[in-house]
This record gives sequence, C-alpha cells and structure tokens, in this order.
Amino acid sequence: MDDSPALRISGLTRSFGGLPALAGVDLELRRGEVVGLLGPNGSGKTTLINVISGVYRPTAGRVEVMGHDATGSAPEGLVRLGLNRTFQTPRPFRTLTLRENVSVALRHGRNPGQSEDEILQLCGLGGKGNLLAESLNSSEQKRLDLARALATGPDVLLVDELAAGMRHDELDGAAELLRGLAAAGRALLVVEHLMGFVRQVTHRVVVLNAGAAIFAGSLEEASQDPRVVEVFLGA
Ligand code: ADP
Ligand code: MG
Repeated sequence: MDDSPALRISGLTRSFGGLPALAGVDLELRRGEVVGLLGPNGSGKTTLINVISGVYRPTAGRVEVMGHDATGSAPEGLVRLGLNRTFQTPRPFRTLTLRENVSVALRHGRNPGQSEDEILQLCGLGGKGNLLAESLNSSEQKRLDLARALATGPDVLLVDELAAGMRHDELDGAAELLRGLAAAGRALLVVEHLMGFVRQVTHRVVVLNAGAAIFAGSLEEASQDPRVVEVFLGA
C-alpha cells in the first residue's frame, strides 16, 4: 500500500464535441515529488487538471488517488480522498474576507480544526485575514486560492499557473513554498510557463502537446528532446 503512487492516471481521455482535448495520458505522482506539467497554450494542461479534479468526467481512462479508484468522482469526493487543485483564474468569494474564504474551505476539508491564519501565513498572506478577497491583486488572489486548496488537507495538489503574473521578487518565495509543501509529504503537479521557476520547483517534467504526453523525464533532457523543442518553437 505504501508503495502505491499518490496519484496514478492511465489512458486519461476527454473529448469536447468529438474533439479530443486529452488523448490517453498516463502519469504517476509520488509523495514528496513535484512534477512540472509543460506544454504550449491549448495543449490540455488545464483540462488534465479539470479531469483529474472531477470538474469534467473523463471520456475514458482511470484516476487513482492514494490507491483508491476515483474515476468520475465529483470534486468533493476527490477532496475527501485527499486531492485538491488551484485555478488558473481564481474565483474567491469576493465579498468575504480572506479568513472567511479559508474557513469555508476548511469546513469542506479533512482537517477542519486547522487555523485559518496559519494557512494564510504559510501562503504569504499573513496579517491580511480581515481584508476582502476583492481587494487583492492577482498574485495575492493566486496565493489565496492556494490557501483555500491547502485548507482541505490534500495529499495531492494540482497547481495551475501560480507564478504567472507574480512579480519577480515574489517568485523565490512561491518556489520555496511549493518545494516545502512537497517536502512535507505531498505530491504536486505544477503547471507553469516560466522556465526558471520550473527549474527551481520541479523534480521532473511531463510535456503535453495536443492532449498527449510527448515527453516525461528531466527538464534538462526535455530541453534537448527534438519533439519538445519543435512543439515549443512551433507554438
Ligand atoms: P492549456 O491549459 O494547456 O492552455 P486547455 O486545457 O485550457 O489548454 O485547453 C485544451 C483544449 O481543450 C483547447 O483546445 C480548448 O479549447 C479545449 N477545451 C477545454 N475546455 C473545454 C470546454 N469546456 N469545452 C470545449 N473545449 C474545451
Ligand atoms: Mg491552462
């Protein structure tokens, strides 16, 4: 049991109106590991996160979370099994405070006794608990979204473009935060375009193109792989 990956997806496929946005993706994530999910715009990165996290049902394939079959489960079921995600475009409860936003997530999660303020602090939002979510800039909204996801107590965390739109001086902190979450035993799948950030944060990468995984390995190897180079130069 201990050996089973935190997340295992196999043959994951999702079509929209007959067009495959994901075509038979296999991927395993282990506890303690950060895997980067790369690929040009429209290659299916967000769709993969949406299908794994239960926003969309897969057309075919299987999702296992912490050794349990979670294929086709709704987002709440996946949260109970220990998986949550952040959104490329966060949608906080705008007229609630940061503390209230995290509190809602805590109540839907596995460790409802955690402290809102500690989670906000961890995500670089310490001292801002009384602000309304609508007053945050986009980088702060992304960190609030991460706080909301963490509040549910996930073992598997899918992070969709956290660093996009962050200021240069915020990136090191964000990288350190993600590495720390994995070092504490979580498994992370991180979608990001900024290569410096990907290099800092990830242990290995998977590259998607047109809904298929065309590469899995180190970032170093990816940058020398002719298929990967072609996809990024062609984009
Ligand atoms: P990425 O995150 O890699 O930029 P997406 O996963 O957002 O790419 O999109 C991949 C493809 O799936 C795109 O062609 C997009 O139009 C399509 N797609 C995603 N969601 C939907 C949807 N709800 N309905 C129709 N097509 C969709
Ligand atoms: Mg996307």
